[in-house]
Amino acid sequence: MPNTHDVIVCGLGGMGSAAAAHLARRGLRVAGFDAFHPPHDRGASHGSTRIIRQSYFEDPAYVPLLLRAYELWRELEQRRGGELLVETGGLMLGPPDSSVVQGSLRSARTHGLPHEFLDAREIRRRFPAFAPDDDMVALHEKAAGFLWCEPSVQAHLDDAAAGGAELHFDEPVLAWSATAEGGVTVHTPRGEYSAGQLALTPGPWAPAVLADLGLPLQITRAVLCWFDPPGGVEPFEPGRFPIWIWEKSAHEATYGFPAVDGPGGGVKTAFHVTPKVEQCTPETIDRTIRAADSEQLRASLRGLLPGLDGPLLQAKTCLYSSTPDAHFVISPHPQHPQIQIACGFSGHGFKFCSVVGEVLADLVTTGRSRHDLGLFSPGRFSRSG
Ligand SMILES: Cc1cc2nc3c(=O)[nH]c(=O)nc-3n(C[C@H](O)[C@H](O)[C@H](O)COP(=O)(O)OP(=O)(O)OC[C@H]3O[C@@H](n4cnc5c(N)ncnc54)[C@H](O)[C@@H]3O)c2cc1C
Repeated sequence: MPNTHDVIVCGLGGMGSAAAAHLARRGLRVAGFDAFHPPHDRGASHGSTRIIRQSYFEDPAYVPLLLRAYELWRELEQRRGGELLVETGGLMLGPPDSSVVQGSLRSARTHGLPHEFLDAREIRRRFPAFAPDDDMVALHEKAAGFLWCEPSVQAHLDDAAAGGAELHFDEPVLAWSATAEGGVTVHTPRGEYSAGQLALTPGPWAPAVLADLGLPLQITRAVLCWFDPPGGVEPFEPGRFPIWIWEKSAHEATYGFPAVDGPGGGVKTAFHVTPKVEQCTPETIDRTIRAADSEQLRASLRGLLPGLDGPLLQAKTCLYSSTPDAHFVISPHPQHPQIQIACGFSGHGFKFCSVVGEVLADLVTTGRSRHDLGLFSPGRFSRSG
């Protein structure tokens, strides 16, 4: 029997919607499947906004991908009409020897990215909402900002559909297999589909969907909180207030956004590295908000943003899919070259959706990427023991 499609995409969240868009725009017959109807709030790509930045503290190797991601987000905006990426400037804060500060500086210097280095006095002068201790410093980057996350997923889905992709929502992939002929078969409650290739972008469902690989992924509960500043939102408005990431210690880091969620929307912040890690699955996560969720965050933020210590307006749970080194997994499947995998985005993947979509499309159509994917190889887990 001939294949029903050239390529199937399993999971149409942040990464899968982008992959489907890039593949469809190249003229391939694409079928995409999602267990729910994205953009939805069951996975990792919801909650209004996601930080995007270039002086990447995690590793300078991400910078070429980031520069391409910016270009592709701007192209997507042009094609679909509507703002997705907003540059507000960004502060990467911490003690001078923290990895957020040192890593950001390293990426900025390695790649010649425009940036400024600010001491605590300068931070307070330029951004009066911040009250850092005297021994804190920051890298300031103008190009940093945020993406509107649900509209970004929707724009990629629209782009995919406009390119002719068949999008199957509320149709989970129950099983997939590589065929003897070098293709793939996918089973859903509605039927069986076959294709030459498969892209697996299951987000926090990766431990189940990619169980055969036994990747060391840790799925954890993250909580986004919107606070109502008692003195009003003015000091937190874009123009006066940037996106920010604060490494308080090796075990505690927080981040946040300017007040962009409309009148009464408050100011969004969250833990990136939380002192209390809660492992779960998308099925077992406790989606109810507990008093402790916002109290811990509030207590942590008092040391940096005292004006934010107001009532909690709203909170949402989300899922991190973390690898031991917090680097992504993007690779052909080690046993099946016709299957591409992208998961383990470790709480910092969204800004890359546009470029990961392009990378996956390159792997599907040419078997290679112009980017160095060495950092993202699943082989690193077996090598390290
Ligand atoms: C609280 C929070 C804050 C974050 N902040 C940032 C940030 O500021 N900047 C940043 O860059 N990143 C951030 N991230 C990380 C980023 O959002 C994620 O890395 C990214 O959204 C992951 O996208 P994904 O496509 O892998 O997962 P998802 O968007 O969750 O998509 C996976 C999809 O696969 C579908 N699926 C799963 N299994 C199946 C199946 N069997 N059949 C069919 N469909 C299936 C799911 O329904 C889902 O739609 C944050 C994450 C969280 C949770």
